Amino acid sequence: MELRVFFYITIIVAFSGMGCKSAKSSHAANSSPIAVSSDFDSGSIDTLWESKPNFLSGWPIHWKQKSSSDDQYYWFYFKLNNVVNKDITITLDSLAGIYRGGPHLIYTKATQPVYSYDQKNWDRIADVKYDTKLHTLTFRNLFTRDSVWIAYAHPFSYGQESALIDSISGKPFLTIETLGTTQQRRNIHLLTVTDTSIPDAGKKVVFITTLQHAGEYCGGYVVSGLLNFLLSDDENAAIARKTTIYKIIPMMNPDGIFHGITRFNGNYEDLNQEWDDDFTDTLHLPVEPEAACVKKWIRGWRSSGRHIDLALDIHSQGQQGAMNLLHTPEGMLADLTPHFNKYWPVKYIPMEFSGSLNDCLAKEFHISSGTFEIPQSRIKNEAYLTIDDYYNYGKGIGLGITDYFLKNR
Ligand SMILES: [Zn+2]
Repeated sequence: MELRVFFYITIIVAFSGMGCKSAKSSHAANSSPIAVSSDFDSGSIDTLWESKPNFLSGWPIHWKQKSSSDDQYYWFYFKLNNVVNKDITITLDSLAGIYRGGPHLIYTKATQPVYSYDQKNWDRIADVKYDTKLHTLTFRNLFTRDSVWIAYAHPFSYGQESALIDSISGKPFLTIETLGTTQQRRNIHLLTVTDTSIPDAGKKVVFITTLQHAGEYCGGYVVSGLLNFLLSDDENAAIARKTTIYKIIPMMNPDGIFHGITRFNGNYEDLNQEWDDDFTDTLHLPVEPEAACVKKWIRGWRSSGRHIDLALDIHSQGQQGAMNLLHTPEGMLADLTPHFNKYWPVKYIPMEFSGSLNDCLAKEFHISSGTFEIPQSRIKNEAYLTIDDYYNYGKGIGLGITDYFLKNR
């Protein structure tokens, strides 16, 4: 429970003690103390203070899983005020945690945080040092506006999911449903895209999910790219709509995302360990409402005589990853990756995660299922990934799936 006190943390940084002289001209150095806040959608920082002028020190919130010893720590997203024309150095420590009982080190020398002056257009901070022994990240940047948002990686907030749904609501070929609500009464949406002038019989059914884990935000952009492609005038989108029914959940964990939690939902549980039976998870705790309402929909869909041909759940390895991976249980979907590789690079590695959505779909419902792990840094030593790259991955998923089904008819 004590973690709840960290919600909406606003930290006004202690004045550095160097004296605040009034500026003599508009070009004089900005000597006002730097103010830090995180009391906004997806915002998160435990402690951050101006330890000396233009040097900030602190650490991200460590979130403890309710039903295990797991300790998740990597997401941070804060706003700085009074930073115009300041060359600022930020050091974050305590960058190590526990995942599924083992050490979890998701920061690397390749980690580059992002910053934005409007929470829409993001750039990387390239001047970064990571100490692999102390697990400390130090990054430095000269800011040109008075206020700046800084995050571990491109955020995709709860408000962005709402804006996405508003932006496509009412479009042809789209139906929007609410499957259920979270503990804190936020909606779990199911979006259906298909051409209803073509009978459903004979169409393939694809189930796409993302954002089970708060902090793995690139999935929100990938699904946005997929949706915008499927709803577009592109002739390949028309083929996809005529041949396929897409069922898409764009945000599985709105509570965790709104509160800036790393990985867990608002009840401090890992949703992707909640799918192994109807009433309890592997630790015999009640199934979380996000998983329960989705599983109820799957059962209802199937009991009405419908099927699901392919399911893909989109995650991220954070900035640790250097390759897009497709993990599948039971060696499923080995022939799918070449179709994606025409549009974006994906490596196929069979792997199972107990209690995961994919394991449940594969073993309980016998649906061909995979989990994408998409980096929030870069692919090998290439350029760092951008939001446009993630949009293109989404389009590539749509194109690759159409090719796959055409080949396998
Ligand atoms: Zn994940």
